[in-house]
Parts: sequence; C-alpha cells; structure tokens
Amino acid sequence: MNIKDRARKIMQVLSESYPDAPYTYLNYNNEYQLLIATILSASTTDACVNRVIPILFERYPGPQDLMMANIRDIIDVIRPCGTYNRKAHYIRESARLIVERFAGRIPCNMKDLISLPGVNRKTANVVLSVAFRVNEGVVVDTHVMRVTQRIGFTDEMKSRDKVERILMQVIPRPQWYEYSRLIGTHGRRTCKARRPQCSTCSISYVCRYYATHQPIHT
Ligand code: SF4
Repeated sequence: MNIKDRARKIMQVLSESYPDAPYTYLNYNNEYQLLIATILSASTTDACVNRVIPILFERYPGPQDLMMANIRDIIDVIRPCGTYNRKAHYIRESARLIVERFAGRIPCNMKDLISLPGVNRKTANVVLSVAFRVNEGVVVDTHVMRVTQRIGFTDEMKSRDKVERILMQVIPRPQWYEYSRLIGTHGRRTCKARRPQCSTCSISYVCRYYATHQPIHT
C-alpha cells in the first residue's frame, strides 16, 4: 500500500472510530476567543487554557477591551498557562493590531494571521479551519506530530513546518483539517505520548511503529 492509500485508509478507519472527534478541544464562542485561546495553548494543555479563559473573556470580551488591559492584570489570569509574560504581551499586542489594522475583525487568511504576535502557522491553521472552514494548511500540534511520525508518514521529529509540508503532499486538500481532527483525537485517546494503546488501536495494521516495535500491551 503506498503512502496516499495508507492515509486514505487511516482516515476512513479513524472517522468510524471517532465520530465525535471535535474540531478543537479549546472552548470558544467566536473567532476572537478562538484566536486568543490558541495563542495561549502554546506549550500547555487545552484543559489548562480552558480553565483560565472564562475569566479572561469575562474581563476582556473583545479585542478593544484586551488592548487596553494592564499587562499585570492579564498575567494574573493566564499565569497557569506558562510563559505568561510573553503570552500576555502577545495577546494584548495582537488585540491592538486586530483593532487598528483589521477594524476589530479576526483576519481570515494566513498572511494576515501570521503577522500577529504569537501566531505561527499552527495557530493560524486552527483559526482558519475551525472558525472559517478554510484549508490553507494542516494543523500540526503535538499529537498530530507524534502520531504522524509513529504511523510512518515522516521521520521528521522537530520541525512542524516540515511535517506540515509533507502532509500537504500526502493528504488531499479538502481533508487537511479532517486529518488533524482525527489524528489529534487518536493521539489524545489511543496513541498517547508515553503509553500508546497499540493492542486496541484500530490502525495498527498500517502503522510503522506497530510493525517495527514490540507492541505495548496495556
Ligand atoms: S499502533 Fe500504536 S503507535 Fe501505531 S498508531 Fe496505533 S497506538 Fe499509535
């Protein structure tokens, strides 16, 4: 089976395994909230972000409110998310640019999104695909990175941009976000970082890791 056929098979099986897979594990009500939550989610868990954002968005319900905030007050709220100094500046400055450059609206294209502080391709891809249903790339978060490597689509271990470029060749464009949705959920629920549940995995028969390692039975 070539790599594109394997990808097709994996997505078909996982769509049956995870019919309830959400498009994001972050809680949000609008594009502004999704963007800010995604910036905060760098190097921390979605659960951690979901704990702090109700307070953050109650105090700063829109970019006009956030751009005027005192940086210390933002830090007090987002401290559990880690690298809070940098993230506080990122979200306040992004809010200012959204107001001043984009008339208070969240941009819906890659070029404008990645011009905002704290927004890389992954962040932009989340906003574009989840909020606007635009497939400009593949969301490569920590789960997608790990599972993609294990199933054998790449040997790249560090660069998310390189993995994204490979996936954009392997996965048909209309399914780019579907890939992230299904593979991300598989990484969270089955192909976990420390203890992949290979013995119950629905795609083990097309997995390079499974073929080359002693399966871990749990
Ligand atoms: S067989 Fe194991 S390593 Fe491969 S995708 Fe499944 S859980 Fe992950």
